[in-house]
Amino acid sequence: MPASDYFSANYTKARSRFLAAATAAGARMSVYKNPARGPAGEELTTDVAWIGPADAERVLVTISATHGVEGFCGSGAQAGWFESGLYREAPDGTALMQIHAINPHGFAWLRRVTEDNVDLNRNFLDHGAPYPVNPGYEELHDTICPPEWTDAVIAQTKAVFEAYVEKHGARGLQSAVSGGQYSHADGIFYGGNAETWSRQTLLAIFGKMLPRARHVAVVDYHTGLGPRGYGERICVHAPKSDGLTRASQWYNDDITSPALGSSSSVVLSGVNLNAMEDALPHAQMTGIALEYGTIPTEQVKLALRADNWLHAHGEVDTPKGRAIKDQIRDAFYQDADDWKQMIWDRGVETQRLALAGLAAS
Ligand SMILES: [Zn+2]
Repeated sequence: MPASDYFSANYTKARSRFLAAATAAGARMSVYKNPARGPAGEELTTDVAWIGPADAERVLVTISATHGVEGFCGSGAQAGWFESGLYREAPDGTALMQIHAINPHGFAWLRRVTEDNVDLNRNFLDHGAPYPVNPGYEELHDTICPPEWTDAVIAQTKAVFEAYVEKHGARGLQSAVSGGQYSHADGIFYGGNAETWSRQTLLAIFGKMLPRARHVAVVDYHTGLGPRGYGERICVHAPKSDGLTRASQWYNDDITSPALGSSSSVVLSGVNLNAMEDALPHAQMTGIALEYGTIPTEQVKLALRADNWLHAHGEVDTPKGRAIKDQIRDAFYQDADDWKQMIWDRGVETQRLALAGLAAS
């Protein structure tokens, strides 16, 4: 079967496909119901497939849809891993846990955020402590999220961003916009003011399934940053940490680090992988975000702003709403065979290296 066939056209199909493939492979399933519903009133769930010994000390974990609409990519890789039979490559004593659609609401609604407009990958911090401040975002919020969304407004706001880049550089703009912010609940890259359902669900899964694990590899699938089809292994273990050293060894130095300035991502607040590591004090966790490029960054940001405007001020079920939904889907999922093949090949390479790394640990 060509790799492009593993990818599904929407959340509901992706879920059915994953469940069927996991069940056929003999995986043990568990399900977590999101309190909200999808656009057609459908139930939204995070589904977890476990294959291998229940008490495995070595576990490979994959995650899809941390950023909702990015789930097309990770879901295809997860379903394909079962359907292709590659799951059988796990050595004896090593388990595989695939977490499908950790943010099912974003996946179903074609949004990057959760049901509460929160960027899940900025939500994993202590909500009882003072939040990080992002003065750049505060300065730009009204420009990023205008009340009207027209070509004229887009052109005006573009000029403001260009002036910001003149003063702070392109990286400065990227940090301001996408580093994470906790001041504007109606904005983009908002980290929330409480723990989201998806955060609680992910950490509940880790608590329930991994108490006996000693070595855990995590591959969290993302899209929307970097060259089209290229999979960047972004590692958020701290500089000079054992985790970063391990990841470097496992992946033959083919990793990047936002903290060291080698990644297409800037340093973020409230990142999921750091919380996963904290949730496993009894284990060595080696995690990466596998980030695939789609279309140029400027267009991705435009799609995110359009979608944010749509949900704050517009109507989804209108010609303009549907056009914006097509725009954001294309920004995070390239419905093209060559792109899907690149996703698959790099995903397979990455998960094989993770299994080898676990075996050597
Ligand atoms: Zn992402």
